[in-house]
Amino acid sequence: MNPQTAAGQAMDVSPELFDKLKAQLRGPLLKAGDPGYEDSRTVWNGMIQRHPSMVARCLGVADVVTGVRFARENGLTLCVKGGGHNIAGLAVANGALMLDLGAMRGVWVDPKERMARAQAGCLLGDVDRETQLHGLAATLGFVSNTGIAGLTVGGGFGYLTRRNGWTSDTVTEMEVVTAEGKIVRANERENADLFWGLRGGGGNFGIVTRFDYRLDPLGPEIMAGAMAWREERAPEVFALQREIMADAPPELAIVSGLRKAPPAPWLSKDVHGQGIVLIAVCHSGSAADGEKLVARFKSLDGAVGDVLQRRTYVSQQSLLDATQPKGRRYYWKSEYLPKLSDELFEKAINHAKTITSPHGAVLLFPIGDAVGRLPNDHSAVGNRDARWVINIAGSWDKAEDDAAQVEWARTAWRDVRPLSTGGTYINFLTEEEDGDRIQSAYGTNLTRLTEIKRKWDPENVFRTNKNIKP
Ligand SMILES: Cc1cc2nc3c(=O)[nH]c(=O)nc-3n(C[C@H](O)[C@H](O)[C@H](O)COP(=O)(O)OP(=O)(O)OC[C@H]3O[C@@H](n4cnc5c(N)ncnc54)[C@H](O)[C@@H]3O)c2cc1C
Repeated sequence: MNPQTAAGQAMDVSPELFDKLKAQLRGPLLKAGDPGYEDSRTVWNGMIQRHPSMVARCLGVADVVTGVRFARENGLTLCVKGGGHNIAGLAVANGALMLDLGAMRGVWVDPKERMARAQAGCLLGDVDRETQLHGLAATLGFVSNTGIAGLTVGGGFGYLTRRNGWTSDTVTEMEVVTAEGKIVRANERENADLFWGLRGGGGNFGIVTRFDYRLDPLGPEIMAGAMAWREERAPEVFALQREIMADAPPELAIVSGLRKAPPAPWLSKDVHGQGIVLIAVCHSGSAADGEKLVARFKSLDGAVGDVLQRRTYVSQQSLLDATQPKGRRYYWKSEYLPKLSDELFEKAINHAKTITSPHGAVLLFPIGDAVGRLPNDHSAVGNRDARWVINIAGSWDKAEDDAAQVEWARTAWRDVRPLSTGGTYINFLTEEEDGDRIQSAYGTNLTRLTEIKRKWDPENVFRTNKNIKP
């Protein structure tokens, strides 16, 4: 039986059960009231307030194996926390045994083989920091304190995606603890079906304890950063983004967004709190080539902020971190887009005008290129026809604003949805998005995912995720 608990309440666990598990672990085991419990049970999205019965802070693979076996033997719901960044709060479940991998942050780089081996509790910044020592980089996401685990098993995209495809396309091997509590390797030759499913299928098939990533030579100095203009300039800025990206080399990524200007030092004071259009740029090739590619933006008049310059790749990877603090309230709606049309720009601009929170945004991320070079069934992630991602990103401070902010995001999403490829990103799905949205995320790959689930996790031990039913 799963221990039950009312939402929002701490959960009692029998002292015998607690002590029994504690004796089998190398890392600490925490319950409500213990120092560190709150830090583990809270996640990036402050809307999510759930209380696991126990938190095992795993110190190695043996703790993960112990946790999986113990949960099964005692009928406990299991949840696993990487970086805790999932918007739906998939890392935490009421009454569950949580395996918090946050202490497993080792990274080993093999510069000769251009490979990085990373433990599953790493944040993106951990991997960037170690790989950049050698002038190398993995294909990760845009915010440095996101967990590599959730990001990679959901697909993953970032500034290097046009160059290398989904993050999961750059993984060569994973070490996995299965539902039976066994340790297996998954790669193209060993357990190839599991490997296929773990590259996009989320946490449905096992707990990954180690990822091996292919690396690219990159930087450390590149042309990257951000620029902003008043919101009236959005049509011009969007059109230029579209024009430059249409024939840009895959090393260039230009993200754009609409929001109210935060009181950031790089933005002119007189625009703080007012609508702006911004770009976040990363050219991962030579800095000189990058300068040429962004020259038209640099000469666009009226910028109210400009930190687009030669800088380190590591600094670029954390440029957006301050806009995404842990504990704020968040609600997203997202779609993959085949192109950027005038109609899309118009809709994005109109909905941005109705943002009432100082933190909400409409964002457009480039994908395409390398993503589309592989067949749709290359791995579970699919969506190889996606060229852009739109994220309607609600973000606000007070619980009393929840209903209005959620409605803002939903209204904007309903309006832009007809322009979607029909696909959506599994890692951007919110708490209530299930069934048909999971179907949209996987398309025809869902059938094979279901077969793999039946083979590797027939009892649905791994169900605190965007669940594929066995
Ligand atoms: C501010 C912010 C920025 C983001 N930027 C990007 C981006 O640029 N690109 C992008 O692709 N995505 C991005 N995302 C989405 C991100 O990929 C997902 O939120 C992802 O789930 C985060 O991984 P995590 O380890 O932090 O997740 P957690 O919340 O810790 O875990 C979420 C789920 O992932 C699965 N999981 C976690 N660890 C493991 C494991 N070891 N083995 C198997 N399954 C596991 C489990 O199902 C778990 O429940 C961003 C999210 C946020 C909040």
